Amino acid sequence: MSGLARIGCIGDLLVEFVCTTRNGRHRQAATYTGPYPSGAAGIFIDQAALVGGRCIFVGAVGDDAFGEVELNRLVEHGVEPKLIRVVKGVPTGTAFVSYNDDGSRDFVYNIILSAAAQFDADDAAIAALLDFNLDAMHVSGSALGDAGMAAKVLRVCKALHDKGVAITFDPNVRKELIGNPAYFGAVKEMIGMASIFLPSEEDVLTLFPGRALEDYATELFARGARAVVLKKGDKGSEGLTREGERASVASHRVTVLDPTGAGDCFCATFVTLWTKGAFSFRDALARANAAGALAVTKVGPMEGNSDLPTIEALLRRDA
Ligand code: ATP
Ligand code: MG
Repeated sequence: MSGLARIGCIGDLLVEFVCTTRNGRHRQAATYTGPYPSGAAGIFIDQAALVGGRCIFVGAVGDDAFGEVELNRLVEHGVEPKLIRVVKGVPTGTAFVSYNDDGSRDFVYNIILSAAAQFDADDAAIAALLDFNLDAMHVSGSALGDAGMAAKVLRVCKALHDKGVAITFDPNVRKELIGNPAYFGAVKEMIGMASIFLPSEEDVLTLFPGRALEDYATELFARGARAVVLKKGDKGSEGLTREGERASVASHRVTVLDPTGAGDCFCATFVTLWTKGAFSFRDALARANAAGALAVTKVGPMEGNSDLPTIEALLRRDA
């Protein structure tokens, strides 16, 4: 082990409500459970802290009960909150999700007009991040959908990247936005900076259509990336390093109760365990893969996050 990785993340903090009526689609009166702490970036940093990272987050919540739900969870798990702004008079961001029998999900979001979009990306925030001695700064593409949020995320990442901080990126592509040049440009800029690139199979279909992992990974390695890790849902995951190491792991058999957040949980586990060399590439991938499997077994996007002993127990169960 080479000490705890110091991990930062910037982006959306939300609370989520899960519709417990199948095919509810938010168009009829139905039962919901929540508020659950959520937001792709929030799920990421919570999991990074749970597996032993020293974590700091740049984001914002409202001065309301939902903001407390989110903030309390992150602080309880050890995330440094000094760059999480509590915005007065603006509600905490929310997401409502409904699961359908055809496997699709319907979301209603309030992000752009909520406190979630109002985080500080000024020089003071950048100085505080540099002061934290980050080993990696992570971004989920979910923070790039709004031009204002994307500009702030890019500003912070460029400044850190210039100072040699590794940027890690999960594109979480929003297909409906890909035709928007500003959005696509922001995604491409993040890919260009990424030291670790962690797309899902769906992301790859949009970003590198028809291309094999070796093919687009080679292109990214030439631009400075260290690793590309591909999430394949219930088919597990695989990855390649710049040095030519290849690893592939099968998925764990689990009962899926809520698939939201598995990707963020996977990314956090991999980045935290591999960035500083605490685990080998294959061992970090196996733990990320197990963390992703555990994530889908609990209702609520962050409820399935798990610590290292729980992840190791699943690996032993399926050894
Ligand atoms: P998200 O919806 O959170 O963006 P994603 O599309 O980025 O997710 P997925 O590939 O769905 O990412 O999930 C991430 C990882 O979690 C997978 O690579 C796998 O390791 C694990 N995982 C996801 N779904 C399952 C499942 N049904 N069974 C076992 N493992 C799973
Ligand atoms: Mg994803």
